[in-house]
Amino acid sequence: MSSRLYNRLGLTGMSGKMGIIGFSMLLFMLVLAIAGPSLVKHDAKERSGAPLSAPTSDHWLGTNDLGQDIVAELVVGARVSLSVGFLGALAVMVIGTLIGLVAGYWGGRIDAIFMRIIDVSMTLPFLPLMIVIGVFMGPSWTTQIMVIALVMWSKVARETRSQILSLRTRGPVLAARSMGAGDIYLLCKHIFPGIIPLIIPQFVQTVNVAIMMESSLSFLGLGDPLTKSWGSMLYYANARGAFLTDAWLWWVLPPGLGIVITVLGFSFIGYWMEERVSPRLRSVYRVASGKNKQARNGKLTLDESLNSIIEVDNLTVVYPKDQGMVKALNQVSFKVGKGEVVGIVGESGSGKSTIAAAIMQLLKPPGEVQQGYVRLYGCDLASLSMEELRKLRGSKIALIPQAAMNALNPVLTIRKQMAEAVLCHRRMDKESLNRRIDQLLEQVGMAARTGSSYPHELSGGMRQRVVIAMALINEPEFVIADEPTTGLDVKVQVEIINLLRSLQKQLGLSMIFISHDLPVVLRLADRIVILKHGEIVDEGATERIAYTSDNLYTRRLIDSIPRLNKRNIHADQGSQQAELVLGGTI
Ligand code: ADP
Ligand code: MG
Repeated sequence: MSSRLYNRLGLTGMSGKMGIIGFSMLLFMLVLAIAGPSLVKHDAKERSGAPLSAPTSDHWLGTNDLGQDIVAELVVGARVSLSVGFLGALAVMVIGTLIGLVAGYWGGRIDAIFMRIIDVSMTLPFLPLMIVIGVFMGPSWTTQIMVIALVMWSKVARETRSQILSLRTRGPVLAARSMGAGDIYLLCKHIFPGIIPLIIPQFVQTVNVAIMMESSLSFLGLGDPLTKSWGSMLYYANARGAFLTDAWLWWVLPPGLGIVITVLGFSFIGYWMEERVSPRLRSVYRVASGKNKQARNGKLTLDESLNSIIEVDNLTVVYPKDQGMVKALNQVSFKVGKGEVVGIVGESGSGKSTIAAAIMQLLKPPGEVQQGYVRLYGCDLASLSMEELRKLRGSKIALIPQAAMNALNPVLTIRKQMAEAVLCHRRMDKESLNRRIDQLLEQVGMAARTGSSYPHELSGGMRQRVVIAMALINEPEFVIADEPTTGLDVKVQVEIINLLRSLQKQLGLSMIFISHDLPVVLRLADRIVILKHGEIVDEGATERIAYTSDNLYTRRLIDSIPRLNKRNIHADQGSQQAELVLGGTI
């Protein structure tokens, strides 16, 4: 196969290799099941040799107690085990997914009824149920498939239902609904594709369990007595004393291996498929190959006499992509002095959040530092152990991540989340903890009673204040604010900027303030770094950038700031905009 085809099928990398191994294992079993009977010399039912004879050139894997050829039995067994496993799993998936879909999508009374049935069916004891049904229906293929479906549908239905419940209220579905999309359209275009990443691993896992179940059922004597599966081979071997002689070597091991190879093959394929349907997993499995691999055994020695608290030195960060690389940062260098606010401005995708993550040593895989350093008071952060970094994060350097206000935990009150941020670093009795939280809430301009609210009860601006409070709660010296005003209306933007400015002055914070919005940065920063396609194109004191920079890109940014005239300062919004553009430093 050409390497291009390999790439298209996703058969490269770790999961690709596992996929190839899985497919080969399964292919072997399928060939055995389909072409096997015409390849082997004997018939499985024929007494073709002496009982319990060891492997010979005529009987490659010897014979059983009746003198039947083991290879012939294995081949027939492969057919039975694979078909029952596959058909059983198919039945489970069809029933489980349909019920989960109906219950999750339409909800209401149907959901309540199905959920109770699922609860009850999940508590039914598997083994007695299996035996009762088996005895009632008589040992056969169909009994086995019935039992497998009955035992396993409820788990699939429950998982599908919860996935659909969360999909139903998500942005894309709501957006499509608001455009007038009907149920069938939503189910086909949004809901069903949304559950495929769940269905595929579920299916593979179900096939595996179904094959194991088939073997257990046959081992219990509930298999079809006329066509032996691998499980029934084990049953007969055990019942007829294979373990008392050497016969277990050729009578027990091969069907056991058959089961193991098939189950492993399916697991490997499942691993590969999971990555194919969830692109986000693809990057996570990638193994770091650059500087990230370096041993993290440096000492945490901070030279606090230095003028600059953070030094980003010649930093290059790449995101590997298929065969190439995306260079998110290219040889970026700048410093942040004590008590200084450095603004980083750049259009979306210019690498701003990557700088923030690289400083915090929280680059998302597959992102990796190809070269360069981030130093805190002269100490190379990449050399520190995870534990040392954990101690620094929050207490020395803090991050207000992009869209942080959406990252508050919806099931915890603000007070609980703030307490968590403190308790990550130190023990504190309840009273002083509450006092500290009240003090901080007040500092960010919120009443102490808002602490008992849940995030959804607060407005966007208030949530942003909470996130700022959380970043400051362990008294860091250096804070990175990644687009803290994006998504807020102009009036609230001004409030948040004023808040950050006053907190920064009051606490003497060093700060990196990131925004795609130059006017916002002009209001706050002492120095500005202009970023474009991962490279610094201009850097300087705010005044210089605003008035005298001769860099073309900077000039274009400055010139694109709307000039306000009397006509659009009428409304309150307009005057806030005016304050945003004209107030502050310029
Ligand atoms: P900004 O914050 O300025 O909008 P980012 O730092 O988020 O930009 O992204 C910089 C570049 O890195 C973009 O080109 C983006 O496509 C790429 N990038 C960011 N995160 C990832 C990721 N997890 N995987 C691959 N590429 C990424
Ligand atoms: Mg960003």
